[in-house]
Amino acid sequence: MTDFVAPASTDDTPIEPTLPGGWELVVGLEVHVELDTATKLFCGCANQFGSEPNTNVCPTCLGLPGSLPVMNETAVALAMRLGRALGCDVNRSVMARKNYFYLDMPKDFQTTQYDQPTNSDGKIELGDGFVVGIERAHIEEDTGKSTHVGGGGRINDAEYSLVDYNRAGVPLVEIVSRPDVRTIEHAKAYVEELRGILLATGVSDARMEEGSMRVDANVSVRPHGSDELRTRCEIKNINSVRSLGRAIDYEARRHIDLWTNAGAPDQETRHWDEEGGRTTSGRSKEDADDYRYFQEPDLVPLEPSSEEIAAIDASMPMLPAARRAALLAASDADADAIGILVERGQDELAMVAIDSGADGDKVVTRLVNDLAVDDWSNVTAESFTALIQMESAGDLSATQAKQVLGDLIEKGGDPAALAAARGFEAMDTGELESLVDQLIADHPDEWSRFSRGDDGDRKKMQGFFTGQIMKATQGQADGKAVAQLLAQKSA
Ligand code: ZN
Ligand code: MN
Repeated sequence: MTDFVAPASTDDTPIEPTLPGGWELVVGLEVHVELDTATKLFCGCANQFGSEPNTNVCPTCLGLPGSLPVMNETAVALAMRLGRALGCDVNRSVMARKNYFYLDMPKDFQTTQYDQPTNSDGKIELGDGFVVGIERAHIEEDTGKSTHVGGGGRINDAEYSLVDYNRAGVPLVEIVSRPDVRTIEHAKAYVEELRGILLATGVSDARMEEGSMRVDANVSVRPHGSDELRTRCEIKNINSVRSLGRAIDYEARRHIDLWTNAGAPDQETRHWDEEGGRTTSGRSKEDADDYRYFQEPDLVPLEPSSEEIAAIDASMPMLPAARRAALLAASDADADAIGILVERGQDELAMVAIDSGADGDKVVTRLVNDLAVDDWSNVTAESFTALIQMESAGDLSATQAKQVLGDLIEKGGDPAALAAARGFEAMDTGELESLVDQLIADHPDEWSRFSRGDDGDRKKMQGFFTGQIMKATQGQADGKAVAQLLAQKSA
């Protein structure tokens, strides 16, 4: 059977709550995040991305006989921290063996959690107030990374396979959502919100492009208004938020096509093919029974005390949702703009500037437009606030303020000094007037065309004189004041 070819769709396909033909989308998301620890989950090997293959390995993470795991305390602490940030209950938990045979896991089982996960029953509230339930967020180890060379890049038709065990045993938390998402927009927003929480709490660097945050989407469709859950497919290999939207869109249309024309889709794992813009069939989906889970005999259960949990709560930073609400209350600016600032981590700059009396809407707009750079580490809350104050006091024009902000981004420092270095000093009227007089004396022909010419001439010459003044003052002069002086002198 050939794969379904969906009608062309783009990123900009408008997302409707209801799919074509009265169908409804049902999405659950499983996100694996690598925890930001120095070492792996059960051994002292470095948890480091980008090392030479098979250099961060030892008998434990290679699963050699006789080696034993030792639980990484920091990993457990980070996992519980994430659980609390997601509003989960943090439970007594038990590690389990998930048995399977594949080259990426030399032990032939993955040490994970099964029926007693560390975190359960949480939620994520999205920017528009929509709430996605979290079923669980459990601790497990990552697998090695296999590369299939030749053929279609899959093991079945590969000439040979390479495997790098640096990633084997890296600590993960797998966050499993409830199947609450009904639109592609919400699926994307969920991943972005989770990423914001991971960064704010320092749990993970959450880099999708490096694989430290990996998203699988469980997709099914059902007639709109029904509450049944139909056969789902799990899409793997999604490595950007953009791909997530495209993959769900393709898969939903494929399901609708099958239900309409052929019957139930097979329950299976599917792979997202970024170039082809489609999902392709993977393995048929195992049930939990196939893994023969059993309790890990080499590790004791994790039993967090209520003091530990209270300490985590006490050290919790403000999370993105609360930061958005605070900035909205302080600035009354556009919600999308506020969302962007919080995502970039620039909301604190805005809050400090607003607290010092600057106009909230202006501050947010300025930051959204003029601080859209990757590296703004040279801009401090103090320097940005000082700049905004200089602008609102009239010491700098909007154009000049923008240039000084550019200098701040590049080299940091005191905005007053940076403005002075550019020659942006407040210019008094006397100074401006003598400049105008000098210019009139130097250009008598142009001046007579201005003062005695027709409207067209006058307009042209006003442009000429204003341009000369701006050139002489490096844009520092106030255009309105120049126009007034010219009018006075020709009267
Ligand atoms: Zn190791
Ligand atoms: Mn997993």
